[in-house]
Amino acid sequence: MEFEPVIGLEIHAQLKTDTKIFCGCSTAFGAAPNTQTCPVCLGLPGVLPVLNRTVVEFALRMALATGCTVARESRFARKNYFYPDLPKGYQISMYELPIAEHGRVDVPVDGALLPVRIRRIHMEEDAGKLTHDPDRPFSRVDLNRAGVPLIEIVSEPDLHTPAAAGAYLRQLRSIVRYLGICDGNLEEGSFRCDANVSIRPRGATGLGTRAELKNLNSFRFVERAIEHEIGRQKEVLLDGGAVTQETRLWDAAAGRSVSMRGKEEAHDYRYFPDPDLLPLVIDAGWIERVRSELPELPDARRKRFVAAHGLPDYDAGVLTAERELADYFERCLKAHPQPKTVSNWVMGPLLGLLNAEGIGIERSPIPAAELAALLALVERGAISAKTAKTVFDEMAATGRAAEAIVRAQGLAQISDASALDRVVDDVMARNPAEVAAYRGGKAKLMGFFVGEVMKATRGQANPKTVNEILNKKLQF
Ligand SMILES: [Zn+2]
Repeated sequence: MEFEPVIGLEIHAQLKTDTKIFCGCSTAFGAAPNTQTCPVCLGLPGVLPVLNRTVVEFALRMALATGCTVARESRFARKNYFYPDLPKGYQISMYELPIAEHGRVDVPVDGALLPVRIRRIHMEEDAGKLTHDPDRPFSRVDLNRAGVPLIEIVSEPDLHTPAAAGAYLRQLRSIVRYLGICDGNLEEGSFRCDANVSIRPRGATGLGTRAELKNLNSFRFVERAIEHEIGRQKEVLLDGGAVTQETRLWDAAAGRSVSMRGKEEAHDYRYFPDPDLLPLVIDAGWIERVRSELPELPDARRKRFVAAHGLPDYDAGVLTAERELADYFERCLKAHPQPKTVSNWVMGPLLGLLNAEGIGIERSPIPAAELAALLALVERGAISAKTAKTVFDEMAATGRAAEAIVRAQGLAQISDASALDRVVDDVMARNPAEVAAYRGGKAKLMGFFVGEVMKATRGQANPKTVNEILNKKLQF
């Protein structure tokens, strides 16, 4: 029997606000444990939460960027459960009336755009962090993270392959980073993902029983864990068994998932509207103001790079995945209006350099204007394309400008015909057999002569001039 996987993702994005969602405590990462807490986020009796306006503003940005309908009135709800990292005994989240619903993002998968519906976006507070020490009979709790604002973005189960799930996750990460609302760091947990996975016989329309996968803290793990889960469920069904609804924890080191607990249902949480918080009313003016301030999003920018700069779709996708990289490209392009040349240099040597150093574009040792200046030297014929790569490496290592490096190291291209004349004469004198063979009809030897001249000039000869001279001299 053939099966079709059905995948939906729940993404938690930690918002980059200065303070927590219901109190004024700092959200800065890395402080000593329990130093960024107050009676509100410690859940002490008698305190009242006050909603952080910037959290709403950020949630609105995401809602509008993903085509959601924003609710005129939404409500915070208490999600009740006990855990030592949750001192109140409930998490303030949203349930029946989330801030936004019914959105859509188009995800590039295999050269086509896959529409993925967004079911809902809601705001909530994060819990604290537990550390278990295997050598001691106790665990530690750090409540600095308690009350840090999150948005949860729930997709409809519109994804059918692990690769599509990975592409959707990348697309959402790109969007939250363009919007400046979340740093999108999976490894540090500020962008987290749970996957609901089920399978059904191909052609069926109902949904199979799903398992929820947790702890997917890298793009690689997300795809691998989903792949593994699809295989596990197939085996269960083909053995005549039934998939149980449960939460499974991905163990990256072992490359498999383990059952964590039976999956809870919403009614287990006894959700009810939080009586400490007023209904959230958002007027049309606020929504329109946020909409008018949205930046150009990755999808639109990619399309513009293809239409306006004539770039291949692949180049446009790579260059627009990060807002800062797209900005860099456009700054460079402004100084050197040759889109494909700039794209080749940014995607090739520059990204290669950044990956090797493990740094982002914002820390590039070569500013956009300096790269443009290097490309201008090639364009003018002042240096050869081959020398340009040497100069590029030198720029990266020393931080000096291209022109200064070319001057200091005598790398300028030799275009002077009389100088190259002598080199060509010399090469021909040293290789009489090849000259005779060429004149006898072995036209392929032209490449050999060009190579010899290049060698003799340390790659600095202007290839166009060299070809002209060789053509003339080898004629007879
Ligand atoms: Zn606090």
